[in-house]
Amino acid sequence: MAMAQILNGKEVSDRVLAQLSDELKAISTISQTLPKLVVVLVGDDAASQVYVNKKAKTAKTIGMASEVLVFPSETSQATLLEEIKRLNSDASVHGILIQLPLPKHLNSLEVLSAIDPAKDVDGLHPYSMGRLLVGDLENTNLPCTPSGIMTLLKAYNVPIAGKHAVVLGRSNIVGKPIGLLLLQENATVTYCHSRTPDLESWIAQADIVIAAVGIPKMVKGSSLKPGSVVVDVGINRLDGKLVGDVDFESALEKASFITPVPGGVGPMTIATLMQNTLSCYQKSQESALISS
Ligand code: NAD
Repeated sequence: MAMAQILNGKEVSDRVLAQLSDELKAISTISQTLPKLVVVLVGDDAASQVYVNKKAKTAKTIGMASEVLVFPSETSQATLLEEIKRLNSDASVHGILIQLPLPKHLNSLEVLSAIDPAKDVDGLHPYSMGRLLVGDLENTNLPCTPSGIMTLLKAYNVPIAGKHAVVLGRSNIVGKPIGLLLLQENATVTYCHSRTPDLESWIAQADIVIAAVGIPKMVKGSSLKPGSVVVDVGINRLDGKLVGDVDFESALEKASFITPVPGGVGPMTIATLMQNTLSCYQKSQESALISS
């Protein structure tokens, strides 16, 4: 069997970013106000620091305004909620992202729910999630990783309708929303998780596998249906190297399409965050026009 085609997230995200950069250039010629993203980081988790810096750097590269606010790990819930309130009412801020995971003493759901849904660039506010659930995708921000995956699949014309998609993982950030987006595109979706017995039998039936578990190389090529599409969301460190949740080498021989780690889903997540921020900015400009 032929080797799988690589779903090159780096390449597709570069195209998305180039287009955003053009749009931002056009905005800067007609407006004093640039779209602005604020990323809030609580604590000193090393991986989170890397992700936050990547987001800020990408914003800068494409000409978007951004700011990173760092709070000590012992920050209280009340202080964080107060900060979000301030950002909500700051008209120069168009997107607010709370870097997850938050330290254990903080209530993430309450924190995410405090963000003005109009500035919810991560799409994790219950309002945004609700819009996704009812299929009103035009009027919400979609969570960045799942939305980025859909952009990537569409860039390669991967067929989705009528396919059996097996989602491994049920987090609010990845698993649940990617299943809903695939369902919206008429896939038949099965969710698997830590309590699913006989995971292998589900993987073997999948036309599309989304691996979002956080266990290095958990999905082996031998478990896959020949010709399946494999999307590896996992970012794990193994012997000092970044690896996904899929054993890439063995899966490459079995799949028809596969995302690499790194260079697959990761860059799509960041490009989607930039798209969402621009979209929040555009909507805020429209509503300012309507109310003036
Ligand atoms: P999470 O820890 O919130 O959720 C993991 C999910 O995997 C849970 O729903 C759990 O039920 C399931 N699970 C655990 N063990 C399992 C098992 N043995 N079999 C089947 N399911 C099992 O993680 P998350 O935030 O969804 O992230 C998952 C992975 O994706 C992590 O490696 C994370 O670093 C990565 N991630 C990558 C990006 C990106 O942009 N590429 C974005 C978010 C998360």
